[in-house]
Amino acid sequence: MIRIEILPQAEWILEELRKRGYEAFVVGGCVRDALLGRVPGDWDITTSALPEEIKQVFGRTVDTGIQHGTVTVIRDRAGYEVTTYRIDGEYEDGRHPKQVAFTRSLREDLLRRDFTINAMAYSHETGLVDMFGGLADLKAGRIRCVGDPRQRFTEDALRILRAVRFSAQLDFAIEEGTREALAEFAPCLSRISRERIQAELTKTLLSDHPQRMELVRETGMAPFVSETFPAAFRGAETSRFLEASRALPAGKAVRWAAFLAPAGERDAVRILRELKLDNETIRTAGTLVSRVRDELPRGEGELRRLMSGLDDDTLELLLRLRAALFPEDAARAEETRRAAAGVRARGECTALRDLAVSGTDLLAAGFPPGPGLGRILNGLLQAVLEDPGRNEKEKLLLLAGKFSGREKETE
Ligand code: ATP
Ligand code: MG
Repeated sequence: MIRIEILPQAEWILEELRKRGYEAFVVGGCVRDALLGRVPGDWDITTSALPEEIKQVFGRTVDTGIQHGTVTVIRDRAGYEVTTYRIDGEYEDGRHPKQVAFTRSLREDLLRRDFTINAMAYSHETGLVDMFGGLADLKAGRIRCVGDPRQRFTEDALRILRAVRFSAQLDFAIEEGTREALAEFAPCLSRISRERIQAELTKTLLSDHPQRMELVRETGMAPFVSETFPAAFRGAETSRFLEASRALPAGKAVRWAAFLAPAGERDAVRILRELKLDNETIRTAGTLVSRVRDELPRGEGELRRLMSGLDDDTLELLLRLRAALFPEDAARAEETRRAAAGVRARGECTALRDLAVSGTDLLAAGFPPGPGLGRILNGLLQAVLEDPGRNEKEKLLLLAGKFSGREKETE
């Protein structure tokens, strides 16, 4: 009999339910991950007890999803989701069906689950409950729907992208019948909210095998992801960049930027907006895409100019990205990183706020207010980026005189 190490708190919950005559198992992702030797993110519990019965058994519970049969049991200040065996009605948003019916049959509860590898339950008493060949699929590295894939994707189209996401997280192939249904039912994706689509695609990119994003193109899903999404796929370069992005930190902005770099900034930003990414990620990813093809700076003047347009974190991501996508530049990226650390350590000016003169200083020195002031400050910044030795008040005021003089000449 297969034995799985269960988190003690989850074990305690199973035991409490069993003592009162109910069936109870850990189920789904945690069983899958434990069998794979991975550390499960959360321990979900499925039980024959009805929600009211679960609440009677445990003193401290929270009604998180009571209408779907889920009660959160608190143990050692952490919450565990305990859900009554259920049969799902029609899904409305990919996670929560419109109506659910409770059942006393574990089999029916497992039948509603998406993939065989996610449809196993376990308890120490019963061992592994594997009614649909989940363990065999786990060993074969295969994603396969429970039941008829066509029906399962029609019920809930989010499963289409969950298949892609799990194949990327686990490095699994998609079983043939399931894969054919993916292609056939791809148009159903247009019924799924952009936020949910995005969540699955982001998990795909953040996984150890982001190359599986290619499934979206191969199965014809791209036009149903978003209007501009098909433009993301630019052939060999996209494949190369997806492959290379495995070496990047698992950050949203940098992973999306690696994938979308071949598409260019305009389409990249469009896609990220269509998929409702947060503004911060869109801004950073857009900057990365627009700059990753630029040559790395030669010399410290160029470096300080680059630094004046980017915050430190974005510069670091840019260097990581450049090194990953253009490996021939990896050594230069490392040099640039060291040089940037030097610039920071010496406290050299890389922004207007570090300049030894301010707008107020210029006004005090008799320069007229107006847009000309900003142009002068920017000119001074450029001069200081070139040569940090110029960042002294006296020198800069003198230089400012020259700038404003020149401006008058050209007016
Ligand atoms: P993760 O590690 O990402 O949390 P997971 O398998 O736990 O993976 P969840 O989204 O947390 O995935 O869902 C928990 C379980 O609920 C799944 O293992 C699966 O059995 C079932 N499930 C989740 N979403 C669906 C769905 N859309 N259709 C059918 N079953 C689903
Ligand atoms: Mg989970």
